[in-house]
Amino acid sequence: MKATIEHLKRPEMKDILSVQSAVLKSIHDFMWGSGTVQVMPVMLSPFTDPLAHPVHDSSLEYEGQRLELTKSMILHKQLSLMRDDLKGIYIVSPNIRLELGETGSSGRHLIEFSQVDIELKDASHKDFMGFMERLYSHMEGFVLSSCADSLERLGRELKPAKPPFRLYHRPELEERLGKDWEHEASLRESQPFWVMDHYREFYDREDPKTGGHVNYDLVYPGGFGEALSGAERETDYGVITRKMKERKTDPSPYRAYLEIARKGMLRPTAGGGFGLERIVRYLTGRRSIRDVCMFPRVPGEKVLV
Ligand code: AMP
Ligand code: MG
Repeated sequence: MKATIEHLKRPEMKDILSVQSAVLKSIHDFMWGSGTVQVMPVMLSPFTDPLAHPVHDSSLEYEGQRLELTKSMILHKQLSLMRDDLKGIYIVSPNIRLELGETGSSGRHLIEFSQVDIELKDASHKDFMGFMERLYSHMEGFVLSSCADSLERLGRELKPAKPPFRLYHRPELEERLGKDWEHEASLRESQPFWVMDHYREFYDREDPKTGGHVNYDLVYPGGFGEALSGAERETDYGVITRKMKERKTDPSPYRAYLEIARKGMLRPTAGGGFGLERIVRYLTGRRSIRDVCMFPRVPGEKVLV
């Protein structure tokens, strides 16, 4: 309990929360200016992001129905953009991912975090990546100008990033830097950078010509690692169901989503999502994500408050 009280009363928390508030304000301002609108998150649904890595089950039963706690809003973003009058949306949503205890020492995993999830209609991966670079520059610029005193007290010196960010292909990075390519590349770079072509969930679009994956990660420099994952989305019912089979994803919870896909109602979109705590960790230069959370939920640790 002593450690919890000390954590809640840490002197640096106010400056960290100021940076977080500046991040959120700048995102809302930028998104408003871009003609997108905010959709509120749902926390319960028969389906959610299946994720591409194992986590503990967080489903629950309510009045005879099995519901999942939201792992990300990806599929609901796609459903929102069926509307003709929406050209783009964003959602700031709580994500519950009961990550395995061993990830607790990574310094960047939580079992409950906030994701800023963005999706743009009729956008290519290039469109989204350009959009994200403009959003990132706007956000970082606002933090640097409005939180200069906080950053100084936190001992964080940040040079403004200059888009366009470098672009790498994962197979090439993996061959050059080995299994730990993301960390190695993150240590070597001095600006955020993109990495394309990852084998992931069924909803990322496959390039039928190359068999590659039209998806991307944005990675922070300085060893801070992954910032965002995103993709052009798959809309073809046949391809979606084939990819579910290949990934051993049980289609039954996704019935309503698949019915909409079968009717050809999913629109071509591209988007991505970034973790709020991870960006605050990067901007404030904290090595542990625990330090930027008022109420950290670190994998494998007992939750006390
Ligand atoms: P994903 O689509 O799974 O890559 O998640 C989107 C973004 O959310 C990632 O790029 C991270 O910034 C963030 N994120 C994912 N998992 C976690 C986690 N367990 N704890 C904190 N942030 C996370
Ligand atoms: Mg990811």
